[in-house]
Amino acid sequence: MKLRYPFVLFSVFLILGSQKTYSWGFYAHQRINRLAVFCLPEPMSAFFKRNIVYLTENAVNPDRRRNAVKGEAPKHFIDIDVYGDSALWKMPRRWNDAVAKYSEDTLMEYGIVPWEVNRMKYSLQKAFESKNPNSILRIASDLGHYIADSNVPLHTTENYNGQLTGQKGIHGFWESRLPELFSDKYDFFVGQAEYEKRVLDRSWNSVIAAHMALDSVLGFEKDLNASWPEDKKYGYEQRGNVTTQVYSREYSKAYSQMLGNQVERRMRASIKQVADFWYTAWVDAGQPDLNAMMDYKLSEEQIKEMEEERKLWQKKTIEVRPEESASLTLEDLWFGTCCNHSHPAEKGH
Ligand SMILES: [Zn+2]
Repeated sequence: MKLRYPFVLFSVFLILGSQKTYSWGFYAHQRINRLAVFCLPEPMSAFFKRNIVYLTENAVNPDRRRNAVKGEAPKHFIDIDVYGDSALWKMPRRWNDAVAKYSEDTLMEYGIVPWEVNRMKYSLQKAFESKNPNSILRIASDLGHYIADSNVPLHTTENYNGQLTGQKGIHGFWESRLPELFSDKYDFFVGQAEYEKRVLDRSWNSVIAAHMALDSVLGFEKDLNASWPEDKKYGYEQRGNVTTQVYSREYSKAYSQMLGNQVERRMRASIKQVADFWYTAWVDAGQPDLNAMMDYKLSEEQIKEMEEERKLWQKKTIEVRPEESASLTLEDLWFGTCCNHSHPAEKGH
């Protein structure tokens, strides 16, 4: 990247640095959880619709606690390409088999999203079985997040921000900037939730589909870069009262056109999978009567607890690599949240 003035370089570094840490973006995560609610069949829909604000607002909790809760970070991604050629096909699907082949430490280092999705589906089933509305909502919301992350191409690679191919910033560009600019035109009608017999396979299928799209995500941006005038690649936009440098609308549009409806497809797949998994967990729990929980409201105590929890998450006690610290501060400034697709320093990575 050739830039004329040092201050521009500094500014681009900060903005793109911040974008790289953003998983599906605040906006897309919330939209995915929200739209999944409308796919649920009658016996589930009233309870989920009644709590749609909770499910939407808390869709980004896993990102919020990423820097405060030990072991949270690897749940959001899997760097499948570090396992060598054809790893997508050779990686054992079952957790115990994968641990036996690679060791738990290695798996935790390079991410565990498909297993986490599978595990959370069972947690949700348990919550339905115990008819605990608080657990149902909390776990359903988190599960929606991890499913959405598993559908993002750049959550399936070591080159998660294009940092290995001179494309730093592409993570946030693809999963935050593009949906924010263009998702109003996407078709989000995915039909009604369906029962999923093979939960673990489906958890892997989203990773496979996402990883297969990776070549285009990186390749098209590289092609576009080669022909696009450098001074038209970025623009400025107002976010709250901060002026930020972003990928320009024209550049974003050109990239989006090259990708066809790829971002839309990944968002649609996320919505459908979230709805299918919520529904499957409910069926597997014996279809408990959710209408009996219609009066459920968060108690004062629970609200207080949630506030305390958020404060704790904001402390970000888990160290991240130095270049990410600046971006986290900015992220908080703009959106009040953060997400690092990176490995915590605790892993010595
Ligand atoms: Zn995430």
